[in-house]
Amino acid sequence: MLEALSEIGRSARTGGYCRDAWSPADLELREWFRQEAARRGLDLDEDRNGNLWAWWRPASAGASAGDSGVVTGSHLDSVRDGGAFDGPLGVVSAFLAVDLLRARGFEPVRPLGVVCFTDEEGARFGVPCVGSRLLTGVLDPDRARRLTDDEGDTLAEVLARAGRRPGDLGADPETLARVGVFVELHVEQGRALREPVGVAEAIWPHGRWRFDFHGEANHAGTTALADRDDPMLAYARAVLDARAAAERHDALATFGKVRVEPGSANAIPSRVSAWLDARGADEERVRRLVAELAASGPGAADVACESWTPEVVFGASLRDRVAAAASAGLASTDYTPGSGSCGAAGVAAVPTGAGHDAGVLAVAGVPTAMLFVRNPTGVSHSPREFAEPADCHAGVVALAAVLEDLCRS
Ligand SMILES: [Zn+2]
Repeated sequence: MLEALSEIGRSARTGGYCRDAWSPADLELREWFRQEAARRGLDLDEDRNGNLWAWWRPASAGASAGDSGVVTGSHLDSVRDGGAFDGPLGVVSAFLAVDLLRARGFEPVRPLGVVCFTDEEGARFGVPCVGSRLLTGVLDPDRARRLTDDEGDTLAEVLARAGRRPGDLGADPETLARVGVFVELHVEQGRALREPVGVAEAIWPHGRWRFDFHGEANHAGTTALADRDDPMLAYARAVLDARAAAERHDALATFGKVRVEPGSANAIPSRVSAWLDARGADEERVRRLVAELAASGPGAADVACESWTPEVVFGASLRDRVAAAASAGLASTDYTPGSGSCGAAGVAAVPTGAGHDAGVLAVAGVPTAMLFVRNPTGVSHSPREFAEPADCHAGVVALAAVLEDLCRS
């Protein structure tokens, strides 16, 4: 299934993926999701925020379409020049877990849903987890509609062009109420995991801030150094300050996106806009780091927080139940694909610095857990992101065992 997606939005130059929300690549992936749901006879809903839900509803009498269910899935969009696994692995594994459960003759007594959240990465409009944040009411729909991409198009315009109704965006308690419990499987994005499969312990608090450094545009060849008001210098200083502040606070800080106006090689910029991503083990240190940066140095910038996700600690009882079910599933399976064996593997608990829709749902009060699949390179958000097929298979086996357990009650 990953192979079937392998050419969608792929750069021939780098081998990485560019799957911006609502881009042609994203629309193709969404169509693929619809087809996979249809192939399995799952009921497909697209909610008012563009999230896709494929439901396996119990055949038993007394069950109704509105019953809260067990939901798994992830996202199909990518960062720019991203890898093949971040997102798609969770969606593919969700469908394969359904297949595995059916092959075993399992019948759910509560609805089992596969979800594809819209615009998890925020690569196009700058705000991550747009689909789940709108769903849970954390993102104001007016603000969402006004989000603008690099072409100057607003999310509202982009949605209208894709045949959606931007006026529909907003909190959706009815859809959210159908999610009785959510389990997201995801490729691990660091090197914290030694076993094929792990469970998430916590998601670090993290946020994105936009820094605007202002100056005066002028000719690069005729303006004396002393006469320049060059915002690039303040920006360059901020990049170094961010690194030093991150070291001081034992946190992470990254300027990964920058926009220069007018953006000519022979002009002093009038403005440099740069986006800071900051994360850490606790909220206090992240906020202190950003506050210090915002206040530091001459030519201080206008700083605006574009998104903030508080620390998410996944509930211990659900986490332990998921870990136990995953371990038992891996230990009891006779499914040993390829050269790797997924039997008798332990399931470790790992913290993560990466944000996920699972974190947004957990903050909204949905019982939530995550399964991670080992990533031997430790690299993510890059074409080098990787997971061994045997580990991916182990992930499916573990996920199926977890869903089976959660679907019982
Ligand atoms: Zn992801």
